[in-house]
Amino acid sequence: MINLVLFGPPGAGKGTQSSYLSRAYQLVHLSTGEILRDEIAAGTEIGHKAKDIIARGELVPDTMVIDLIQLKLDKNPSAKGFLFDGFPRTVPQALALDKLLVHYGRNVSAMLSLEVTKEVLIARLMGRGTTSGRSDDADRRIIENRIEVYREKTEPLIKYYKDAGKYEAVNGEGSVEDITGRLKECIDRLPKNKKETYS
Ligand code: AMP
Repeated sequence: MINLVLFGPPGAGKGTQSSYLSRAYQLVHLSTGEILRDEIAAGTEIGHKAKDIIARGELVPDTMVIDLIQLKLDKNPSAKGFLFDGFPRTVPQALALDKLLVHYGRNVSAMLSLEVTKEVLIARLMGRGTTSGRSDDADRRIIENRIEVYREKTEPLIKYYKDAGKYEAVNGEGSVEDITGRLKECIDRLPKNKKETYS
């Protein structure tokens, strides 16, 4: 089956699109942002460590998210496939993901990268901040920091997946339905063996 990395800057629409795609292709949706927010809400030690880092718009340590992802992979041994949303965000995380997936007899089929201009990202995040209840969405300086952190630490992953022949750029602007359609076209174009190797 397929294991997808849905990639893009904050506000690119990864969360929204992940809900549609995980249902359409029966994939287990793993969002490290959501997992961390659940840890904060549950008052765990991890949540306690992550809270201020997230509020500043910085990245939590690689080991923290890698361990959380490993736990989820462990819990879903018979999953048809996974949709990784907001993970990996650094090159060490991508290396760790590849290694982990090999252990589970899987691999990344493709990295789908949602391309959105900075103006649209900021407008979307400021809009979301009024309803999401996320403090990191409400403050323009934090939003700009998150985009800066993305450029510096996360964007290098594009080269990582390009070199692996797994990078697919997708226009992330327009209606939600149009973007879902473009993503589905990419997924449906994946070579049959990539989709079915691990089914
Ligand atoms: P998100 O919901 O994906 O926008 O993530 C919200 C916040 O959680 C990010 O701004 C980071 O502080 C943290 N976070 C989520 N995923 C990761 C990751 N893969 N690596 C490091 N920090 C992360």
